[in-house]
Amino acid sequence: MATSRGNTKVIVVGGGGTIGSSTALHLLRSGYTPSNITVLDIYPIPSAQSAGNDLNKIMGIRLRNKVDLQLSLGARDMWKHDPLFKNFFHNTGRLDCESTDDGIKSLRKQYQALLDAGAGLEKTNEWLETEEQILAKMPLLKRENIQGWKAIFSQDGGWLAAAKAINSIGIELKKKGVNFGFGDAGSFKRPLFASDGTTCIGVETVNGVRYHADKVVLAAGAWSPALVDLEEQCCSKAWVYAHMRLTPEEVAEYKKSPVVYNGDVGFFFEPDEYGVIKVCDEFPGFTRFKRHQPYGADAPKRVSVPRSHSKHPTDTYPDASEKSIRRAIEIYLPRFKNKELFNRALCWCADTADAALLVCEHPMWKNFIVASGDSGHTFKLLPNIGKHVVELIEGTLADDLAHAWRWRPGIGDPVKSRRAARAKDLADMPGWKHDSDEAKL
Ligand SMILES: Cc1cc2nc3c(=O)[nH]c(=O)nc-3n(C[C@H](O)[C@H](O)[C@H](O)COP(=O)(O)OP(=O)(O)OC[C@H]3O[C@@H](n4cnc5c(N)ncnc54)[C@H](O)[C@@H]3O)c2cc1C
Repeated sequence: MATSRGNTKVIVVGGGGTIGSSTALHLLRSGYTPSNITVLDIYPIPSAQSAGNDLNKIMGIRLRNKVDLQLSLGARDMWKHDPLFKNFFHNTGRLDCESTDDGIKSLRKQYQALLDAGAGLEKTNEWLETEEQILAKMPLLKRENIQGWKAIFSQDGGWLAAAKAINSIGIELKKKGVNFGFGDAGSFKRPLFASDGTTCIGVETVNGVRYHADKVVLAAGAWSPALVDLEEQCCSKAWVYAHMRLTPEEVAEYKKSPVVYNGDVGFFFEPDEYGVIKVCDEFPGFTRFKRHQPYGADAPKRVSVPRSHSKHPTDTYPDASEKSIRRAIEIYLPRFKNKELFNRALCWCADTADAALLVCEHPMWKNFIVASGDSGHTFKLLPNIGKHVVELIEGTLADDLAHAWRWRPGIGDPVKSRRAARAKDLADMPGWKHDSDEAKL
């Protein structure tokens, strides 16, 4: 029988997360038969260990590489207009600040790139040269804490109610009759192959169940390089956040504040409906290198293996993170510096060397598609990234995307990626007490 959308079976591993849930959604929207789509994950949608299972994420148009513009504009339209997503976009604006010489230089370049993009972004983005101009956009900052800062204010930006948006995809998938496997029945163990040894025909999960399909998409985020050998193209790293709660009077003041970001400090969001503000610092991430043998590797090797916060809910973060998050609060929200912090957590992403996604067919395993390498900035693409994964499945992915997202071992160092420095390992971080019984690698 000829394959068509109606009769092609697809398994999405990591379908409870960002790229995976988007892929399952776009399979449905493209006309794949719901009962031919199988979503596997350790946790139900929104997966408790997805990087996207979070109070909020920043939405903005950023042009780090050529394909970013097209993707972020596509995402912006869907966040604004698609019925499934529009309630989760809080278009408060985004204030991108810099205070160091290098930071300001790079911010000016970003601004020029926005002007040069030919997409009307000069109408929605504004360069702020003075403290007065910055305070006009965000009067709750303290003038003495923003001396010398420059900024871009973007009307396109704001924040995304992240977990709620993934949840809405989950509801849609369930309503339409997609198959699910969660827990051990959804946890990827290995790919299954036809007798030729190279054509993937499904996956086996941890409980030994074998699911068969024409195409398998591995969208396991930061867990991907620990599950299959990605030849050091992705390095899993953790970033951190903490929360504080405001009183109703404080909430009234901070409501509708833009997202404030500074590459040397971190970022924060307006309070949610329960008065909770999330604060993040900004740093090159933490690795967690172990000796580990992903499927497809000949022998154990050094792999940065995420440690799931949902499996270890009492984990916190290193002392340095407490210091830098407290610093961000002192700079942005000094009146709240004595507020109690709660839900301090690590959140795991997969960096590539060039910060572009890794979305391609495995070069040796036909029909096995890797959709990972989020590089810490992929949540905003939740509405549209899956559309491009479906295009890849169908062989219609545009050449520029296929090139940017190709299998590309050896192009650089994903431990540094395009960040300011190489990531430090959790084993070297005082205050990280959750691996104390294991040898440092
Ligand atoms: C602190 C922090 C702040 C961030 N802020 C932003 C932001 O402001 N804007 C933005 O755009 N992006 C942001 N990001 C990045 C964004 O969250 C990620 O790029 C994106 O969520 C990654 O999506 P993913 O699908 O690759 O991985 P995930 O969403 O993590 O999904 C991976 C899925 O794989 C599943 N899985 C793992 N192992 C298995 C297995 N063995 N079997 C089956 N399933 C498995 C997991 O349970 C999970 O559901 C931030 C990230 C962090 C950590």
